[in-house]
Amino acid sequence: MPTDIKSLTREEIEAQFKHLEQPAYRVAQLLDWLYVRRAATWDAMTNLPKSLREKLREHFSLHTLELVRKQGASDTTQKFLWKLADGALIESVLIPANPALYGETSDRHTLCISTQVGCAYGCRFCASGLDGWKRNLTPNEIVEQILAVERWNEQQMLEARSSMLEKETSASATPASSSDRLVNNIVVMGMGEPLANYDNLMKALKILNAPWGGGIGARKITISTSGLAPQIRMLAKEPMQFRLAISLHGATDETRNKIMPVNRKYPLKELIHACEDYLHEKGRMITLEYILIAGINEAIAETKPLASLARKLHAKINLIPYNKVEGLAWDRPSEAVCEAFLAALEKEKVTATLRREKGHDIDAACGQLRLKTERELSAA
Ligand code: SAH
Ligand code: SF4
Repeated sequence: MPTDIKSLTREEIEAQFKHLEQPAYRVAQLLDWLYVRRAATWDAMTNLPKSLREKLREHFSLHTLELVRKQGASDTTQKFLWKLADGALIESVLIPANPALYGETSDRHTLCISTQVGCAYGCRFCASGLDGWKRNLTPNEIVEQILAVERWNEQQMLEARSSMLEKETSASATPASSSDRLVNNIVVMGMGEPLANYDNLMKALKILNAPWGGGIGARKITISTSGLAPQIRMLAKEPMQFRLAISLHGATDETRNKIMPVNRKYPLKELIHACEDYLHEKGRMITLEYILIAGINEAIAETKPLASLARKLHAKINLIPYNKVEGLAWDRPSEAVCEAFLAALEKEKVTATLRREKGHDIDAACGQLRLKTERELSAA
């Protein structure tokens, strides 16, 4: 399999172009086609000579994601189910005007992206891990999720405009630069454990962050992990200033062990040490994610260890009522219980928010649309 062009950094493309005896300005033209105009084929790159396009076609692949299914209306959370080149399915979720859940700015759109097909970590409440882990996504498959959603949006805009005018429109929705993208916040919280696909993730985020690539600020990119302590330490040494969210869901080993097998490998003490390292290196606030699951972690007694952990890490807490997963017995607590949990944390003088969330109606928790589709397909 040839390398996909969207898995390469600018420096790597430059080296390849030198090898192909191409002038340097061709690299800038290619990058503009890939990341600003989001070209889906080599033939669309009309200012590159035909002979160069042929050479590129020989040397690199240019995969795009195929939309299999979409849920949600245009002004709400929308979920995309994509088919990869090998037929595997992944999800991305587009969230409009996100009220700054992870400290990012609230304008425009946040895209929640996947990093693996399935997940090996098997958290008991999560749809992504139910059928196990299949493979890591390649850098281009991570990058393409942003471009494919934007391509889809562009198509919608063109269709709306042409039906409004009831005639051929010559207007173009092509952005002037990567800085006016539809997606300007990324949360790495889709299917998979991002830090278990560390190298491909870092490469993809480098491409999405670079001024020659996606142009999305590192501070607008949040990585969520179930708690891989060694990789959190590696992340602390990265030059880029990503935001970090920890899927805590329990503030004691007893609670975490019940629902997250990863806690047996990296118990809280080790996870907390890694977070302290991260804090020390980066000086950046961490977010602790805490799904409220009925009968598991919603007792008021849990707020004391949770608050002391948050204080220790100077972290803020995101409370998220559990999203029901088909085939799993877990439920969210009542609204009153969720509000009481929040109030108890506030009394402890820590910063906490309760997501009164969007997307509950469309299986917004990661992995659910894929699971449903896979099961429908195998039943058929
Ligand atoms: N593997 C990483 C990132 C993907 S999961 C991680 O675990 O952090 C993204 C977030 O969605 C995690 O906090 C995860 O615990 C949460 N999640 C998974 N299933 C959920 C559900 N059914 N309802 C609410 N949140 C869920
Ligand atoms: Fe994997 Fe995250 Fe789901 Fe756990 S919560 S199974 S780590 S995707």
